[in-house]
Amino acid sequence: MYNHLLLVWDKQEPSPFVLKGDANLAVNFDNEALKTEIIELLQELITIAGVTGFEDAVREKIIALLQSTGARFSTDFMGNLYVTVIGKNKDSSKLPRVMICVHMDEVGYLVSNIDNQGFVYLYPIGGIPEYLGPGEWVSLHTDSEIIQGSVGMYPPHLPVTGQKEIFVDVGAQNRDEVLQMGISVGTPVTFTHGFKQLNQNRVVGRCLDDRMGCAVLIALLRRLSANPIEAEVTGVFSSTEEHGMQPGSEHSSVHGSRGALVATMKLRPNFAMVVDSMVCSDIPGIAPHMRQIRLGQGVALRLVDDLAIMRPPIRAFLKKVARSAGITIQEGISRSYTDTSVIQLFDVPVATLGIPLRYAHAPAQIADIGDLVQTLLFMQTIVQNAGQYQLGSCNNTI
Ligand SMILES: [Zn+2]
Repeated sequence: MYNHLLLVWDKQEPSPFVLKGDANLAVNFDNEALKTEIIELLQELITIAGVTGFEDAVREKIIALLQSTGARFSTDFMGNLYVTVIGKNKDSSKLPRVMICVHMDEVGYLVSNIDNQGFVYLYPIGGIPEYLGPGEWVSLHTDSEIIQGSVGMYPPHLPVTGQKEIFVDVGAQNRDEVLQMGISVGTPVTFTHGFKQLNQNRVVGRCLDDRMGCAVLIALLRRLSANPIEAEVTGVFSSTEEHGMQPGSEHSSVHGSRGALVATMKLRPNFAMVVDSMVCSDIPGIAPHMRQIRLGQGVALRLVDDLAIMRPPIRAFLKKVARSAGITIQEGISRSYTDTSVIQLFDVPVATLGIPLRYAHAPAQIADIGDLVQTLLFMQTIVQNAGQYQLGSCNNTI
């Protein structure tokens, strides 16, 4: 469990920063071994369903993947997972407490209705584009098994003039047959296909957003456990980040991140980092002058989105850390939001990193493993220097 410390911070924002080992912050990891580890982690994480609000199986898998580290685990009623690695200073109360937040949940559907013919209707949860679904294989996650289904598609031979419904055919001939399969209102539904490595660097997967954040955080926590640093680091694998984004909505006026809100309220860290996806604009149909984030060109600073703006001192800090460690970064502006939107509200300095991702929220998202390796190296150098992100005093009083 966590100490509920009341922190009294100097409200002055830091400048300039003095980084540890300023001249050479490069982290010496075996990048090839890291690539292999990350691909294996993605394989494990993406094959598990975790529709927003139903992340329990993902949480259990992450605990299993980190069990041998000796880290401290806890959870809460929101379903968040907290994994704390203590620092190397024996007097841990003097160490900066850093929170690194990645979300476990994925966009998907819930069963909303079952008709007398045995067709199953879907309610989209998270920002799934309305045109997605028809013709796809889907998995319906009942309490006891996974049922396969086809999202009904109106073939060109059958002209339809009225409203087109999104519905699933599980092979049942009536409602009772569906209920006997264990499917009911509220059953989570995901696209079926999970993960595949396309070539040396590129991978395709259903919920790379944000299982790739989970993968790099797991890899980082393993390394911090083996080689503690002068910070107490808590990895927060958050729930319900995706809940609330309305399909087709203009702006994220309604948003999720309830899990991260509860986590921040409990931890009250001195410094936070969010690692989520950042949409790539290097695809056909985007004018060259509108292309900001490119796949394979390194981790991005997510400067602005619908709900959060990165504070200039944080941006300067991150750029200095990246420069010192020889890490190439990109910078960009995005629609939507991340867990940063709620962490900022607790007056916590927060860095938002975006891992480049093509086709976010699609059944087949594409990422570059080199970007993930770079993200991990950047995260490591940031946490090593998070304690420097302050001026003046830090008084912890109970
Ligand atoms: Zn995300």
